[in-house]
Amino acid sequence: MTDTIKSPNAEAKPGGGDNKPKPITTLRDWLDHLAARDRLAVIRPGVSLQFELAAIAKVFDGVKATLFPSPGGHAVPVLSGLVSDRQWIADAMGVEAGEVLARYQDAASKPLPWKEVPSAPVQEVVHREVDLVKQLPMPTHNEHDNGAYITAGLFITRNPVTGVQNVSIHRLQVSGPNRLGALLLPRHTHMFYEMAERAGQPLDVAIVIGVDPLTLLSSQAIAPIDFDELTIAGALHGKPLPVVKCVTNDLRVPAEAEIVVEGRLLPQVREPEGPFGEFPQYYGERADRHVIEVTAVTQRKDAMFHTIVGGGLEHLLLGGIPREATLLAHLRRSFPNVRDVHLARGGVCRYHLYVQIAKRQEGEAKNVMMGAFAGHYDVKHVIVVDEDVDIHNPAEVEWAVATRFQADRDLVIVPESQGSKLDPSTRNGVGAKMGMDATMPLDADEMKFKRIRVPGEELVDVKKAVGSVPSAAWRKALGA
Ligand code: MN
Repeated sequence: MTDTIKSPNAEAKPGGGDNKPKPITTLRDWLDHLAARDRLAVIRPGVSLQFELAAIAKVFDGVKATLFPSPGGHAVPVLSGLVSDRQWIADAMGVEAGEVLARYQDAASKPLPWKEVPSAPVQEVVHREVDLVKQLPMPTHNEHDNGAYITAGLFITRNPVTGVQNVSIHRLQVSGPNRLGALLLPRHTHMFYEMAERAGQPLDVAIVIGVDPLTLLSSQAIAPIDFDELTIAGALHGKPLPVVKCVTNDLRVPAEAEIVVEGRLLPQVREPEGPFGEFPQYYGERADRHVIEVTAVTQRKDAMFHTIVGGGLEHLLLGGIPREATLLAHLRRSFPNVRDVHLARGGVCRYHLYVQIAKRQEGEAKNVMMGAFAGHYDVKHVIVVDEDVDIHNPAEVEWAVATRFQADRDLVIVPESQGSKLDPSTRNGVGAKMGMDATMPLDADEMKFKRIRVPGEELVDVKKAVGSVPSAAWRKALGA
């Protein structure tokens, strides 16, 4: 993480106001932005779609995005690692790293409706005869994955009653030339599917591959049902997202996307899906799951295919940042003195929540924990710290636990609660919550918890501090 490094945008254009950096609104602009900062690696042509592509993308994870020309001899190139760092997300938004959550929450609270356009780049080529393996370069990532998957598709569906669209990302197994297996966790897509299935109807879907990072981020919002996540993308962009109607159903999809797979979730059909390497660094198990029949593939003439390698920083950050923004807003409704939250990488940006508070009352940290557990079922361990602890630095949080926490007094355990089904230590998602109050007592003697500090430490300029004697001649410096 490089949370402390200043945004290159902000450095290039100081002063703010009208010079404020603009948000990135297209994938191609984003690639230009990354390339200009040496954050894009163009890989040699022809790497294998089987493991080799994922292996290379993983090595570059957190450092550079990767572009793979003609992977496995396929005409369509593959992209991975589009967001690899919190600072990159700040750059895409046109803000400083410390403003990412506030910007996201502002967009979520002031969504911008999309604007329909009559024709779109994403429909330059239309395949009504579908052969997924021939048309799309879908890689196989992990050792025990059950073959190729689409992992970075924005999954768009519509509430059959209200007509409001929903966006989420689901792993999609390639099960046949026009068939995908889907994992639908119990959220909005699944509710719409159940409504359609009860009526004996399929549920139309559109799977959108290759969008800008802010649209990707909008898809991961923890929004209420009947809240169209694409309206957050518009707000993040600062202008309505252009959308176009699909060619085989009524769903509206981002016009600037690279590829759209259109189809329908079939009622009363379940087929084996998995195993598949997931964000907690374990395999999601094989089971009978939902099935999509693909009705068309549309794409740009020079389309690119985006893949997210499971458990990489791209995967973790895209899920983590919208969750942080939602949890922060949720906690602040009850606890206005919550300063910041962070879903730590060691907790796969889902399970470990660090909360920074300006403590006013004894016992308050425990109430904050209970609020956090209620905020999202994935939140498993909560550590509450004071304002002087940097929650983006795991060593600082550990230090607070080491020196301000006593297990007999400051520990909260809630047994048998709903957790993440992908956490293998739970019993199919049922597990314990743990909260740790690592804040100082309010009535403590001032010197007892006074953090040591060397006066002037923060002012030292390393270059100016070093003298003219080379280190090999250190004896000379002693005047010998
Ligand atoms: Mn939703």
